Amino acid sequence: MKLRQHGQNLWQLTRLWAFNCYLVQEADGLTLVDTNMSGSGAAILRVAQRMGQPISRIALTHAHADHAGSLDELAAELPGVEVALAARTAAFLRGELELQADEPQAPLRGGFVTRTTPASRLLQPGDSVGSLRVVAAPGHTPDQIAFFDERDGSLIAGDAFQTQAGTAVAGVTRWLFPFPALATWHLPTALQTAVALRALNPSRLAVGHGRVLANPAAAMDRAIQAAEARLHG
Ligand SMILES: [Zn+2]
Repeated sequence: MKLRQHGQNLWQLTRLWAFNCYLVQEADGLTLVDTNMSGSGAAILRVAQRMGQPISRIALTHAHADHAGSLDELAAELPGVEVALAARTAAFLRGELELQADEPQAPLRGGFVTRTTPASRLLQPGDSVGSLRVVAAPGHTPDQIAFFDERDGSLIAGDAFQTQAGTAVAGVTRWLFPFPALATWHLPTALQTAVALRALNPSRLAVGHGRVLANPAAAMDRAIQAAEARLHG
């Protein structure tokens, strides 16, 4: 896995060319945000070992296979690790893929996986995971949450945006890397989320697919404009 540091607290781990998960430095060890695709556990553990730090917590942004894939294999190697995720993500990981009555009734897209590791903590918007504040981020999937680092303004946005092949809101297709768009459930909701995440004024945008952007405001604004054009013509 390729490892890149962004600022003091954020480490980006990339598998293949565009599949990211993140390690966040805390006083008591590392928080792993997302677990990458299946078969990534050993490589993630090697990185933490090289950094000389324990993984104290695992947090998930959403239940797609390339984010939750290695949850079980990591939890098996990390007894007592806190596993923090949204209740909606927990339901998807149990294989309950029905939409709720108050959600847009659009078909779910992308590869959802079932995993047996139970959450030790169910997250709500506003909760803290170490220094990270949980932010609702539905649209790409119904369950997605993002994590905003209160210390330095880094935003780990899951697939709410992609930066691979250009910055885009989830659901707007970049043809050189169309997978996040093809896996997106509901563009109007994704656009609302993009606007809400932009309003946090992040210093850094870290996403599931593509590089981490420093000072991402202008790129996020352009992506939001493109999504609005896509939706409203
Ligand atoms: Zn996804």
